[in-house]
Parts: sequence; structure tokens; C-alpha cells
Amino acid sequence: LREQALSVDHLVDGIFKGDKTALARAITLVESSAQEHLQKAEAIIEKCLSKKSHSVRIGITGVPGVGKSTFIEVFGKMLTEKGKKVAVLAVDPSSSLSKGSILGDKTRMQTLARDPNAFIRPSPAGDSLGGVAQKTREAMILCEAAGHDIILVETVGVGQSETAVHGMVDFFLLLKLAGSGDELQGIKRGIIEMADAIVINKADGPNEEQANWAKTEFTRALHLYPPKKNEWTPKVLTCSATENKGIIEIWQLIKDFVALTKQNGSFVDNRVRQRKNWFLQGVDEHLKRQFYSGQSSKSLLKKYLSMVEKGKMAPSHAIRKLFAEYRQ
Ligand code: GDP
Repeated sequence: LREQALSVDHLVDGIFKGDKTALARAITLVESSAQEHLQKAEAIIEKCLSKKSHSVRIGITGVPGVGKSTFIEVFGKMLTEKGKKVAVLAVDPSSSLSKGSILGDKTRMQTLARDPNAFIRPSPAGDSLGGVAQKTREAMILCEAAGHDIILVETVGVGQSETAVHGMVDFFLLLKLAGSGDELQGIKRGIIEMADAIVINKADGPNEEQANWAKTEFTRALHLYPPKKNEWTPKVLTCSATENKGIIEIWQLIKDFVALTKQNGSFVDNRVRQRKNWFLQGVDEHLKRQFYSGQSSKSLLKKYLSMVEKGKMAPSHAIRKLFAEYRQ
């Protein structure tokens, strides 16, 4: 029975019917790095890729505490109430390194988790951001084949994970707080440049005035960036996730974005570019994994690393020698 439950046809059938258990099982299979699962996983992904979907993929980022899970819960609920099917995925490479996930807390998004039209999946584990991102991309395809028309991909506002998420979504939303001092940091780190919308959360009670002020500041800052090729002008909005204020306006903004970019062709262009990068980044990951797991590369690395450490060899020279020997 177990074998049958895990057969490709059975899983794909379940996914196409929107069965959450089949979807969850298939994602587990796709996330597995066991050799015997690879072919099954590939077959599932390809069958799912062939299923037509009109999904919108939305990336959501922000520092811990900004209100991501609270926001996703109300935003997701608003969408399911409109009859949409929502999937929430996450990219959190820290979980495998620190053994404690910043995003994976089980108590998060409980209302949405119980919603029959929502599917929530924590970040896959992995020892590299590239690996985690690849798995999330694949999970996204499976969710779309299961009929989820809105995919929310959450990540924490630290490190490179934002760039990875930006590279797999149609729309990138940056959540911010007013007066937290991280406004300038964001500008410096270039995350603002990736954002299609900046949303200042916790615009409620005594924070409201400051949030409106921050909105003006961010709008001004955004004018400093050159116009985007897709002709979209990033917008700044305020919201309160706890008071459910400004949430529908954000959805309206995303719909405007989708309408514009579908009309001028950049929506499709972006998806094609992302599929290309999905492949190229996979090649990159594969090469690295292959190199670092090989016996000969390990001893060569050790040998040349010690020469470089002792100052006996320039790194560039050591690299050239290492690869000359590695190829033989
Ligand atoms: P995350 O770490 O980004 O996922 O943030 P959480 O969603 O866990 O929220 C962190 C804290 O901020 C929680 O105590 C929330 O109740 C609170 N919070 C989230 N959104 C709002 C909001 O719109 N207004 C206020 N006042 N508090 C909020």
C-alpha cells in the first residue's frame, strides 16, 4: 500500500485533484536527496510543469518581528475568502545551520493552516541557500499543479535569501517598520531596488503617524532609482496586519502589477528568465557538490590550502595548480 501511495501516478493524480496529503507527500519526495527518489521526483515535477496554471508568485520579506507571519495570515485569509487557493512556502537556509529555524515555528499562521484552501509548508532543510531555493522552486510547481493560484514565498530579511526569493517570484514585497532605523540599511543593501512594493506594517495606534511619515520618505527614496524595464513604478503603502487595515489595497496593487506586466510581456519574460536561472543555478550547485564531495578534491584542497595559509603560494597560483591536478 505504501509503495502504491508513493507511486508517481498516484501522487500526481492526487495533486491534480488538490489533495493536500498527496501534495505534501510529493513535496517530501522532491525535497529528498536520496538517490532512489530522484527519478520519481523528476517525473512528478515534469508532469506538474505541464499542467496549466495562472498563478501569481509573491515574495515577502522583512526583518524578524516586522510581522511577516501575521501579515501572511490576514493576507492569505483575505485571498481564500475571495475564492483563491493560497500556498505559503518559505526559504530559510538558517534552519539547517543553526538547527533552529527563524521561520519554521509551528505556532505561526494557525488560522490559515486550518483553511481548506490554504497549504502551508515550512522551508526545506539544506546546507546551501542554492539547494534550499531549488527545492522551494520545485515545491512551487507542485502547489500550482494542485490548483493554488497564489503562491506566497516568505523569507527573512537577513543575508542572501532575499535575492534567491526575488529570483523565483513575479512580485516582491518588502515589509518594513517605521522608525526602526532599518530604512537606511535597506537602501544600502539594495533590497529596496528589488522591491515592487514597500509596505510599512504596524501602521496602527501611536505608530500610524510615523508610518505615514516613513511612507513619504520611502516614496522619495524610490524616486532615486532608475525606472524598471518592466515599466512598473514601485509603490509604498502602509498597513496594519493586526487590525486588518490596508490589506486589500496591497492585493489591488499586485493585481495592477500583474495586469501591466502581462500586457507589456514582461511577466512572461521574467518567468522565462527565472526558469533559465533555475537550470543554470542547478548546474552550479551540482558542480560544487560534485567537487566538494570527491576524495581527490578534498586532498588537493587540503594540500594547497596549507600552502596558501603559510604564505608560500599565491591563491591564484594555488587555484590554477589545484585544477590542473584535479583534471588529470
Ligand atoms: P515575523 O517575525 O516577521 O513573522 O513577525 P510576527 O508576525 O511574528 O510579528 C511579530 C510581532 O509583531 C507579534 O507580536 C505581532 O503580534 C506583532 N505585529 C504584527 N503585525 C502587527 C501590526 O500590524 N500592528 C501591531 N501593532 N503589531 C503587529
